[in-house]
Amino acid sequence: MDTMVQTQTKPAIQFVERHPMDDLLREDRLPHIWCPGCGLGTALSCFISALMKSGLDLDKVAVVSGIGCAGRVAGYVKLDSFHTTHGRAIPFATGLKLANPQLEVVVFSGDGDLIAIGGNHFIHAARRNIDMLVICVNNFNYGMTGGQMGPTTPTSAYTTTSPYGNYEHPFNLVYLAAASGAVYVARWTVLHVRRLERAILEALDRKGFRFIEVIAPCPTGFGRRNRMRQGLDAMKFYREHSVIRHGIDPKEAAIEPGKEIVVGKFVDVEKPTFLELIRDQLKVSTREETPVTPSSPSSQRKPIARIEVRFTGLGGQGIIRAGYITGKAASIYDGRNAVLIQSYGPEARGGASSAQVIISDEPIWYPRIISTSVLVAMSQEGWSKYHSELGEGGIAIIDEDLVTPEPPPPAGVRLLKVPATRIAEGLGRRIVANIVMLGFLAAVTDFITREAFEEAIRTSVPRGTEELNLRAFEEGYKAGEEQR
Ligand code: SF4
Repeated sequence: MDTMVQTQTKPAIQFVERHPMDDLLREDRLPHIWCPGCGLGTALSCFISALMKSGLDLDKVAVVSGIGCAGRVAGYVKLDSFHTTHGRAIPFATGLKLANPQLEVVVFSGDGDLIAIGGNHFIHAARRNIDMLVICVNNFNYGMTGGQMGPTTPTSAYTTTSPYGNYEHPFNLVYLAAASGAVYVARWTVLHVRRLERAILEALDRKGFRFIEVIAPCPTGFGRRNRMRQGLDAMKFYREHSVIRHGIDPKEAAIEPGKEIVVGKFVDVEKPTFLELIRDQLKVSTREETPVTPSSPSSQRKPIARIEVRFTGLGGQGIIRAGYITGKAASIYDGRNAVLIQSYGPEARGGASSAQVIISDEPIWYPRIISTSVLVAMSQEGWSKYHSELGEGGIAIIDEDLVTPEPPPPAGVRLLKVPATRIAEGLGRRIVANIVMLGFLAAVTDFITREAFEEAIRTSVPRGTEELNLRAFEEGYKAGEEQR
């Protein structure tokens, strides 16, 4: 009998249907690093699930994390996400929101990162009502670094740094958030998946500083030292000891592992956000001012690359104000880009003072001086400190009664002297010497138009002193014309 060899073709590999959450996870980063029994995965699932139901444009959702096991979330979500430095998730998120108010910004991090290293940022962001949702996964210790005691470690709990039991009082996070000004405050455990998801969904629909604490097991760092070796032990504890008390004073929302964990929504109120208050303030402060329109037609402005100006002197000479007026003239009234960095000593008057102004037609990516184009020195100390920063082709302007150009400026620098303080005294007010200097600067350089300077002075000096200051500018300008 002929033998027939039958070959059986293997069925083609069947790919399982994609999980609905796959679209929001970076598969190339998986599997995740979290330990078996860790609560972070559940917290993340609730977050993703809420996002999917939120109806938000996911291209406009940004997730910011700090450092720690919870900080890995920024790497796992397929959204615009930022894994920042330790404790700095909230300041980073604040900048993000202020720069792009269209974004829904969510900070997802842990108790150590947000409340210890970043504790100061946390309370001030809540106080200012910065528009962001903060999800804090609280597992009572620094899990990633080996289970050290943190700001939420319960009294008597054991950690690697409290081997005889913690003797410190922990923060009650919902009480802290509410007392600091948060408009939405809730606490759930990872056992309460539906309620947690609903809380996140609800918080995404609010505006202002919203805070959700998520109690989660860390069997590796905290659990094994506190009779909760497995994640499941912690979940059983949550089931037996958590009580839902919506609407109670967060001060009363106890959290005592071993006894009771009060969960629920404690705060849900409305109040103006930081950005809304800024906008209101701007409306008030500009009400009586002339509408800002560039005073100098672009035809009058010479294109420039990067100009770096340093004003230096002593507190009380109006050094910072000179820098401010210069930046305002260049940006608001001449339509260029400008940044100002100011520094001064601890003394209100008499200490060293310096203002750095960078002006450019291009975006300014670095705000500090690299090579000074113009140094305006009104004190000997300032001259000694900064004269060597002047670059080839630079200009040094000194008040000749206050500064001796010793050591001399570097080769290739033009040195100009003006009796700015004497001119100001001639006008009856020594304090306007800084404006005399601006007039001189306007005459001997060409990167800010005279009109822009005048407009910036008019809108920046105290009311009632405009005429005096414009006269000071005019006198300085005349002195500069003689040295062009
Ligand atoms: S150390 Fe703790 S928090 Fe970190 S992944 Fe492991 S169980 Fe989770």
